[in-house]
Amino acid sequence: MNQMTRRKPAPTPVADAMPDDDACWDAFLARDRAMDGRFVGCVATTGIYCKPSCAARHPKRENMAFLPDPAAAQAAGYRACLRCHPDAVGRDRLAVAAAIAFIEAAEETPRLEAIAAHAGYAPHHFHRLFKRETGLTPAAYARGVRVGRLKATLAQPGSVTAAIYDAGYSAPSRAYADARQHLGMTPSAWKDGGRGATIRWRVVDSSLGPMLVAATDKGLCRISFGEGEAELRARFPHAALLPSDDALDAMAQRVSALVDDPGTHVDLPIDVRGTAFQQAVWAALRAIPPGETRSYGEIAAAVGRPGAVRAAGTACGVNNLAVLIPCHRVVRGDGTLGGYAWGVEKKRALLAQEKGK
Ligand SMILES: [Zn+2]
Repeated sequence: MNQMTRRKPAPTPVADAMPDDDACWDAFLARDRAMDGRFVGCVATTGIYCKPSCAARHPKRENMAFLPDPAAAQAAGYRACLRCHPDAVGRDRLAVAAAIAFIEAAEETPRLEAIAAHAGYAPHHFHRLFKRETGLTPAAYARGVRVGRLKATLAQPGSVTAAIYDAGYSAPSRAYADARQHLGMTPSAWKDGGRGATIRWRVVDSSLGPMLVAATDKGLCRISFGEGEAELRARFPHAALLPSDDALDAMAQRVSALVDDPGTHVDLPIDVRGTAFQQAVWAALRAIPPGETRSYGEIAAAVGRPGAVRAAGTACGVNNLAVLIPCHRVVRGDGTLGGYAWGVEKKRALLAQEKGK
């Protein structure tokens, strides 16, 4: 379903064929954790059997025999190593696999206690075990599952709030926090007129006239029509303004192409400041499909604040990224166009272009 699914640990290897003796020996020498559970090594001189990752000193090759599993080793008269607990491997793997299935099937993200209980372990112990097997904590794994779901649902038309709950978040605020981390909505490092920030900028042609495109090293911070260096400097008086470079040129081309081809999927980094509410509104705007419009009231409702129509309108009005955050897709409840920071004629033209598609 998403990238996380592919990062699952190898399935419990009950049915896997045992590697040949040379491969087994190599796995022991490398203390290869991934081979734990595939076989055990029996040490003739001590009568002990170990899993491949056992930290104990290695015996001589000729004193070692390899058997498929603990049961076979016990049948041959060996005892389990007290250091590496070879009998627990299969059980641990099964528990982690069960926990992953539990996390992925859960509608809401389960708590560690619930995951551990499902797997039959104490929470603290299970946390360590899960991390050892997957490289991730259970919470990080669950977050990956949720972000994957959120990306998938946000690509569908519909309410952002519904998408958030569908993805298994318990509250929009958590989703916004994740969105900032994973969906390219970085909370900006810049403050105070851009003090300390470096902003590269250029003006590109578009079919609706010249566009200013500016970016910090984190992402796009200003896209607008009819502005230039003077307006950028007024907005970020304390930032260092530099001419464009290759990276910004490439982004600017994609932004201007978006004017003519609004259906294109763009995944450009964004560096804009806003309150949690404003960021939620901007995320909601990005979920409106090209060619469709929403009312300010619908946007307010979509972010879980149905009464906040005026605030939603303000959030649209202070949008810094024309076209990329499509505030032009929001109209008045009575169907009239409403305002647009870059002039209502631009808004009309953008919408006409999209509906013509
Ligand atoms: Zn051992």
